[in-house]
Order: sequence, then structure tokens, then C-alpha cells
Amino acid sequence: MIPYGHQYIDKNDINEVVKVLCSDWLTQGPKVLEFEKKLARYCGSKYAVAVSNGTSALHLAYLVAGLSKGDEVITTPNTFVATTNMMLAVGAKPVFCDIRSDTYNIDESKIEKLITKKTKAIVPVHFAGHACEMFKIQTIAKRNKLIVIEDACHALGARYKTSKIGSCKYSDMAVFSFHPVKSITTAEGGAILTNNKKYYDGLISLRSHGIYKDEKGSNVMTELGYNYRMTDIQASLGISQLKKLNYFIRTRRKLAKEYKKQLSSVSEIILPNETIGSSSAWHLFIIRTRNKKERSALLQILRNHGIGTQIHYPTVYSHPYYKEHGYAKVRCKISEAYSDTCLILPLYPALINKEVKSICDKIKRFYVK
Ligand SMILES: *Cc1c(COP(=O)(O)O)cnc(C)c1O
Repeated sequence: MIPYGHQYIDKNDINEVVKVLCSDWLTQGPKVLEFEKKLARYCGSKYAVAVSNGTSALHLAYLVAGLSKGDEVITTPNTFVATTNMMLAVGAKPVFCDIRSDTYNIDESKIEKLITKKTKAIVPVHFAGHACEMFKIQTIAKRNKLIVIEDACHALGARYKTSKIGSCKYSDMAVFSFHPVKSITTAEGGAILTNNKKYYDGLISLRSHGIYKDEKGSNVMTELGYNYRMTDIQASLGISQLKKLNYFIRTRRKLAKEYKKQLSSVSEIILPNETIGSSSAWHLFIIRTRNKKERSALLQILRNHGIGTQIHYPTVYSHPYYKEHGYAKVRCKISEAYSDTCLILPLYPALINKEVKSICDKIKRFYVK
């Protein structure tokens, strides 16, 4: 079975984890600090705060941004539910903005129409690793005094204009996930990057119960926090994986190019494109079929051949929970058309050209039948 995504773990990763296991410190300690420094340096941000996963990273980012009951947040329906679930968790209301039909990212030209007196933030998601139009989003945010938090879970290693995603050059914070299918893994894990010291201090506190050491050295709790800490075991894996990140992205790019070469003759499907001036992390390789029925048939054929595919994403508001909580009448036409016809093909660093060729052969055969 070829999965749609998979981690890449080598001997060095294993050795680094074993070293921590044999040390005195297993929970959050020196390795977490080292991972944070290296992550911030890679992305070009001042600060990074490592946490237990991408979802807790989103939760903390929304909390320090001050999002709460009555606030509205403009975001994309083409994302993993965690992006908006955590808005609901802090009492804020996700407002869905339709997507662009080229990158499947939030359509920045449709954001301003959705701004009301209650709007407090914009949360763009760099879908599949392709950067959103951050300059335009930042301009809209400044004009309307809104906070920008990037859900960059797909985009570690991606570039937008001259900066890395995670530099926060065009935003207040950026959030990453290190789940095994993402650019690098720490098993479970996540991080928030920022250039803002106030946010940084707040994140550090909220990550660990809202407790800090006062001048006398006693532990005091001043706000309601959580235990969202990452362990040193995970951070050591993260540090080791970070060394391979550029190789991972290069490999994903090469494989994406091979897919495009192999599938360019199949006129029935739409292939993904990279926008000029950006460099994708190629988290996902997405093809689109002509209609939903064709997608089901193709998915089935590939499954029969042991090829795993995914449908990323059904519009967030189409989930029963959202339908039952006020979103039954929401319509984002482009996003719906996209989710009816998208198909995510396998793409990960350990995939080889021969496997890509074989997957493409099955797709070609499906269309010439
Ligand atoms: C993976 C992902 C998350 C959640 O990350 P976890 O580490 O699995 O909690 C959030 N948003 C997006 C877009 C993701 O892809």
C-alpha cells in the first residue's frame, strides 16, 4: 500500500531520540529550547514556542491574540477543522471566505466584503504548502486594524516573496504542525512563531498552566493556562529532522515535477500550479477531475491498486457539527466545487520516481479506457 503521506525517519533521528531517552531530562527542557531557536532561525522570526501539537498551537495563538466571545475571524473553508475548531474553543466565530480557483487558498479579494465591526482577525491557511497572497492580506489587515495569524501547518519550508513562511513578515503569528505527514515530524508537535515579545511571553505562560516564577523565585499563576508542553524527546527528533528539511522540500518538488510531466498528457484533469514569486512546500499534490462521479471512480481504481488518496478538504462548514451550529446556510461555491473534484495523490520524501510513474500509469489507463 502506498499511503498519501508518510514520515521520513533515519538513523540520525533515532540516535538523537535515544540520547535524550538515556539522559536525565525527558520533558520540556534544553532540547525544546534548542529546537525553538533553530526553528526561529530557519524561518527568520524572532521567537518560536514549541507545543504539544498544531491544534494546541492554534489555540494558544488565538488566546494571546485576545480572540474571545463575540469576535469574528475571517478564514478559509478549505482547511482542516482544527483551524476553526479552536476559534470556537475561544468563543470566536469563524466567518468563511471563498477560495481562489488557482491555488485553492483564501481569495484575498473577497475578504474586505466580510469585515464587520466584530471582525478581529484574519486566519489565512497556506493550503498544500502554497503561500497565500500575504502582502495583500496584510494591507487589508492594517487598513482595518485586524490581527493576522497564519495557519502554516502545510507550509514549513515554503517561501513567499523573499521570506520564509514563518518569518511573520506579513503577519502577527504563524502556526506549524509536526504531525508525521507534515514537512518535518516530532510525532505529535506544533509551534507558534512571532516577532512580538508580548505574544511570546503570553504563549510561554499559557503553554504551562499560566504559571511563572516571580522575583523571589516562587511559582505564581496569574492566568488560566494549559499543559501544552512539548517533550525533549520530541524536540530532539525535531532538531534532527530540521537538518533534513531542505532535502525534504527539494525531494517533494522533484516528485511534484515528475507527476506534472507524467500527467501533462491527460487533458481531463487539472494539475496544480505554483504561483510566481512563491515557492511551495509541496505538502500535497492535488489533481482535479471533471466531476464528483469521475473522482469516485478514479479513487476506487487507485485504491484497488493499493494507492492511498485523500480528499482535502470537504468545506469545514459541511461537517455535521458546523451545520448544527449555525452554518447550515453558508455557501462558498468555489470551495464546494473544489472539494467535489479534488484528489490528493501520494507525495512524501521516501516516495520514488518509479512509484510516481506507476501511479500515473494507472491514472492514464483510467482515462483511455
Ligand atoms: C495538521 C493541521 C493542523 C493541526 O495540527 P495537529 O498537529 O494535527 O494538531 C491544523 N491546521 C492544518 C491546516 C493542518 O494541516
